[in-house]
Amino acid sequence: EAPGRDMRPLSAPVPGIKTIVAVASGKGGVGKSTTAVNLALALASLGLKVGLLDADIYGPSLPRLMDIHDRPAIEDDRVIPIEKYGIKTMSMGFLMEEDNPVIWRGPMVVSALMQMTREVDWGELDVMVLDMPPGTGDAQLTMAQQVPLQGAVIVSTPQDLALIDARKGLKMFKNVDVPIFGIIENMSTFVCPHCGGESHIFGHGGAEQDAHRLGVPFLGAIPLDMAIRENSDAGTPVVVSQPDGPHAQAYRKIAMNV
Ligand code: ADP
Repeated sequence: EAPGRDMRPLSAPVPGIKTIVAVASGKGGVGKSTTAVNLALALASLGLKVGLLDADIYGPSLPRLMDIHDRPAIEDDRVIPIEKYGIKTMSMGFLMEEDNPVIWRGPMVVSALMQMTREVDWGELDVMVLDMPPGTGDAQLTMAQQVPLQGAVIVSTPQDLALIDARKGLKMFKNVDVPIFGIIENMSTFVCPHCGGESHIFGHGGAEQDAHRLGVPFLGAIPLDMAIRENSDAGTPVVVSQPDGPHAQAYRKIAMNV
């Protein structure tokens, strides 16, 4: 094989971590981080040892989504991940001030990510969920090739534009030989809290059709629901705050498909 063609060997396994799954999206605002957090918690509720790494170095959202405002302890030169709701978490956001935008150049992003995967004391994990930065630029590509990913899931809204972006995401992982576990449609249907009627604000079924067309599995749909947004903002993700509710069930179903 031509040198440089197969980029995979760059990534050696991380000792102790069985599986790393990237959660990616073609663009921001589609609910990637919300999905990553709830997916990680859903995987934990199935009895797995789970880590969640917020690799969105430019806009880390884990501190808000899980209401974590502590700084991680350091023991023997190793950063100890912060445990909450039964999972271990790490985010650049734990180490920097909120409202302080980071301007990092590519190599710094990669070395920060390497430190967060390899120099954090994750212990034994069945699965690490890696919340990628949105988009398909150089930083994402480098992450996808430097971290030993078993696979990726793509979060998309049903809207065409988001779908086109999601397709770029699929291609990026293909280029670095990372299997796509499937597509999750977020903000799928909207259930009116007043009348219970269902509306398809962003269209419906686009991600599922797209998945079929592209030959990748469709992992499931999550509706657009105020409860998901409110709980995200409150730092109490629906999977833990409403464990018997329909959304927790939907996330668990997706977790079982991953
Ligand atoms: P991304 O990581 O793709 O930028 P976020 O996860 O930060 O997106 O979500 C963007 C906004 O949309 C947040 O305010 C979040 O609470 C909200 N959100 C995400 N998914 C849903 C959903 N299914 N229903 C309602 N609000 C959602």
